[in-house]
Amino acid sequence: MNVVTPAHPVEVIPGRDVRGAAPGGGGDGVERSALAVLKDLRKTYYKPDGSIMVEALRGLNVSIPQGQYVAIMGASGSGKSTLMNILGCLDRPTSGQYLLDGEDCATMPDEQLSQFRGRKIGFVFQAFNLIPELTVEENVEVPLFYQALPRKERRERAVETLGLVGLGNRLGHRPSELSGGQQQRVAIARALVTRPVVLMADEPTGNLDSSTGESILQLIEQLHREGMTIMMVTHDDRIATRCQRVVRLKDGEVELDRMN
Ligand code: ADP
Ligand code: MG
Repeated sequence: MNVVTPAHPVEVIPGRDVRGAAPGGGGDGVERSALAVLKDLRKTYYKPDGSIMVEALRGLNVSIPQGQYVAIMGASGSGKSTLMNILGCLDRPTSGQYLLDGEDCATMPDEQLSQFRGRKIGFVFQAFNLIPELTVEENVEVPLFYQALPRKERRERAVETLGLVGLGNRLGHRPSELSGGQQQRVAIARALVTRPVVLMADEPTGNLDSSTGESILQLIEQLHREGMTIMMVTHDDRIATRCQRVVRLKDGEVELDRMN
């Protein structure tokens, strides 16, 4: 999957640590064979009068190889959500490059970007965000409606994915009949059912007690061992040290980029 034979030797982006990155490169310092590549990525929020309100991301150079498990950290206001929104194709940078799975997301038109997001990215949020009126199985089928899959295949995939997260026996339940940990498992199944190239999680254990959070972390770690690329926002150092890599933001810049 997405393993591009390098046409040129690796060229390292100046000042950046590329430990763990897959080889590759297009001769301009961008490692094209990585799953996600940010190059001089900037996001500026403007006031209605056109003046600069805040420079939320100020020139990020980060390259994430396929299969990596990355923690994104930083104090409140450092730019984590802005970065996740761009990584998750919910928003576009003001300037710079964002390549995901070889496609240029910085300049993709809206319609195409949202289709791309639906195919490539699975999201998990702190607050689960399940639809209360739908059953567990129907919740997991939701992202497949946008892919025009036949009903039978939608159902088969949802059931299979719920089995994977240990909820094969809760298909007809409503979210309110489940514990917090089970609801987060449903949310993870919903994120995985489209077979995305990356799982993005924003504080996925933030609303869970520590033992339930631990079981969710173990599920995420299992997905990582099976090859899934994972980008996870966390405030918790103990969780971050369990990831392969920590990217910490400060005032919209990468303050620390280390392999554990
Ligand atoms: P974090 O998630 O790390 O707390 P954010 O990405 O939410 O940080 O915010 C980074 C900076 O950008 C903050 O100064 C915040 O106030 C600002 N910001 C975020 N979203 C917007 C927006 N839609 N409009 C204007 N400023 C914003
Ligand atoms: Mg935030």
